[in-house]
Amino acid sequence: MSHLVGFRFAEVLLPRPLANGFTYEIPTELSPHIRIGTRVLVQFGPRKIYSAIVIRLHNNAPDNYEPKQILEVLGPVIDDVRNLQFWQWMAEYYMCTPGEVMNVALPSRLKLESETQLQCLIEEEYWDENLEAEDREILTITRNSPETTLNDLVKQYGTAAAKRAKKLVDIGVLGIKESIKYHSLEKWIKVVHINAHKKKEIEAILHPKTKAKAQQNIVLAYYQLQAEGHLFITREMLLNRSTSTIAALDALVRKNILEIREIKESALFSRSGVQAAKLTEAQQEAYEKILKTFAENKIALLHGITSSGKTELYVHLMKEIEKSGGQCLMLVPEIALTTQLINRLRHFFGERVSLYHSRMTDRERSDVWESVRKNDPGSQLVVGARSAIFLPFSNLKLIIIDEEHDSSYRQDAPNPRYQGRDSAIYLATLFGAHVLLGTATPSVESYFNTLQGKYGLIELHQRYEGLQLPEVHLINIREEKKKNRMKGNFSQTLIEAIDDALRRKKQTIIFQNRRGYSPKLICEDCGTVQMCDRCDISLTIHKAVHRLKCHYCGREKSIPPACVVCGSIYLKMLGAGTEQIEDELSSLFPGARIERLDLDTAQSKKRYNKMLTDMESGQIDILVGTQMVTKGLNFTKVEVVGVVNADNLLYFPEYRAHERAFQLLEQVAGRSGRSGQVGKVFIQTYNTGHPVLTFVKTHDYKAFYEWQSQERKTFLYPPFVRMIHLMLRHKDLKLLQKASIELTSMLKSVSEILVIGPEFPPVNRVNNYYRMGIFLKIPRNKSYLKTKRQIWSVCLDFFTHPEYKTVKFFFEVDA
Ligand code: ADP
Ligand code: ZN
Ligand code: ZN
Repeated sequence: MSHLVGFRFAEVLLPRPLANGFTYEIPTELSPHIRIGTRVLVQFGPRKIYSAIVIRLHNNAPDNYEPKQILEVLGPVIDDVRNLQFWQWMAEYYMCTPGEVMNVALPSRLKLESETQLQCLIEEEYWDENLEAEDREILTITRNSPETTLNDLVKQYGTAAAKRAKKLVDIGVLGIKESIKYHSLEKWIKVVHINAHKKKEIEAILHPKTKAKAQQNIVLAYYQLQAEGHLFITREMLLNRSTSTIAALDALVRKNILEIREIKESALFSRSGVQAAKLTEAQQEAYEKILKTFAENKIALLHGITSSGKTELYVHLMKEIEKSGGQCLMLVPEIALTTQLINRLRHFFGERVSLYHSRMTDRERSDVWESVRKNDPGSQLVVGARSAIFLPFSNLKLIIIDEEHDSSYRQDAPNPRYQGRDSAIYLATLFGAHVLLGTATPSVESYFNTLQGKYGLIELHQRYEGLQLPEVHLINIREEKKKNRMKGNFSQTLIEAIDDALRRKKQTIIFQNRRGYSPKLICEDCGTVQMCDRCDISLTIHKAVHRLKCHYCGREKSIPPACVVCGSIYLKMLGAGTEQIEDELSSLFPGARIERLDLDTAQSKKRYNKMLTDMESGQIDILVGTQMVTKGLNFTKVEVVGVVNADNLLYFPEYRAHERAFQLLEQVAGRSGRSGQVGKVFIQTYNTGHPVLTFVKTHDYKAFYEWQSQERKTFLYPPFVRMIHLMLRHKDLKLLQKASIELTSMLKSVSEILVIGPEFPPVNRVNNYYRMGIFLKIPRNKSYLKTKRQIWSVCLDFFTHPEYKTVKFFFEVDA
């Protein structure tokens, strides 16, 4: 054990973009509490205090600086060194620093740092009498000025104040601003019970000749739901099922026939141990093939069309892991969008599944962190967004990556700019865990790996219960216009299909990949387009709130009454966003119930959840939305899917654009026809002959892959080469251009790599920063790691040059 030796020094990782760890001296009294993975409080620079993580213990005093002492121990955060190895790997692979990785890896609770705002939590009269005068002073300051930061205290009282603040936080008198916001107390919900003692009254209500038909419907609905196995029945469920009014329900409550009880929301799911469904023959075969692939120590790619039962297979595998006592991580793209999935998993595993994603409060996240670290039974199964790969696992046996192709697994900003799926695969190798990738539309990279024999391929080509894949119709907008068959953005064919669905009480989903009302406001007289002041992009009109918004930097302003250049009042909107599509639909189908799902409406969790239940219970006829409607949703009554305009998906200037378009269209098509009727998909476009659309029409993934991989082979794109995108940013365009050109020529000295650029990205100024990109292509047979180190050192040299010191840069590896 380490404390027998009593190390004198600790190397710690600071949450800063530093290339190396720093060594601090361990005070004897703290020595017994310090291990690798312990979080400690240290001073860095003349004033700043940080919480840092111990990554190494040793006895060698650094020779170029006098080490400072560790101020305080905050507690263990990581027990298994493999998690720290993972951070190190990520920093090296994604060309950033371990401190930056640490910064995104840890939940920020109790991150006692200089900028942390402190707040006094308790009234003075309740302060502990034993507090020392200095403690009281700190509390008084924080009470009087709630904006006080740890830095302020250290400035005033020296580093000793940091220790005191930590103590006060520990005893709960002092709080950290972020964690005070924590309100996510257990939610209670009302459930309905039938009163068994009121037998006579119930019989009377159920009598065929009863006058209280509405009440009878409620009671019948109650029995129906009970028979279907619902353990808890809520008022909403009864009202939806019976179509009776609240008044009727209240009458039953008044008569004591129904009773309302309150239960914790989590209890709804505590019914654990539900049997997993019996697998169909095809599913069973796939299941065995997955196990066989695992036995060969290979990654398994499950290519299963939408609704083929991939999730059922995940559940079966998770059950096995649970039985064996191991930990299982299931990654999903954007967890907020998969409430349905969570409910399904809760159904099988009850409270034994933990969630982990960025929309949770910091407190909730750190609770999950702790329970994973302690390997509590409640967190054996974790379902999370990409950041869940940082959890302190110690007994990880399986990682399932659902929708492995999804681009939201990539973190765009800030550093580490990493691909969560690929990182998870590395994490699995550290733990000797198995990996299952699941998708209806494999990423080109993953499918390539199966063809190389690196991954095992498991295919499921049947929908559950033999449902047919939807029929896809391509609608040529140009021809429709010629025949005068377009009303606004809708072709007559699509209108008729929606109308038909409405009449038969089926649902429709309409996809448009832009939010807002219209992406451009243009002057008809001088042609001026309203642009963002800080970005080179047009402002989007948001009609409902009467604002112009920039979708890049978030700035907004009111809609001007006249052109800002020539004063003309003839302003015209160009192009349509979801808001406008929603408007058009309401005038085309006045009686229909329409809801919109995009970033603007999904902000509210309540509205989002209501949308889900309303879709499920058939209260919505038409759902309009951005790509949010394409993912993970499973509604049985959706029959028609319409894509308003596929062209801006197809002509995006990026080498992955076609892959993404195919995935998106195939996904959105898969929302339809999930029970009984064959789904119908209508894609409106000016380019009916585009290869991507023909592959979507026939649902032919393999043909798509063949075509796409030929293109990438010809034009040298991943997976046939490795590619790194280096981005430079500066407010001064001239300086940026000079730097980019010079750096490009220096990078050409790295042997055998192909340097392309510099070039402007599609939007070349964001938030007043100009941007230029350089693409680096590296042959697959060359050592990736070595080449990255060479590139790194060229860049470090370059950016320490006085002229270019202010130029910001970052890497996107495997861009
Ligand atoms: P995917 O994840 O591939 O889209 P799901 O697992 O969601 O497919 O399955 C689609 C639907 O079919 C779900 O409602 C699911 O409950 C049902 N289903 C799939 N397999 C079975 C099975 N073996 N027994 C019962 N229901 C099944
Ligand atoms: Zn004008
Ligand atoms: Zn902007």
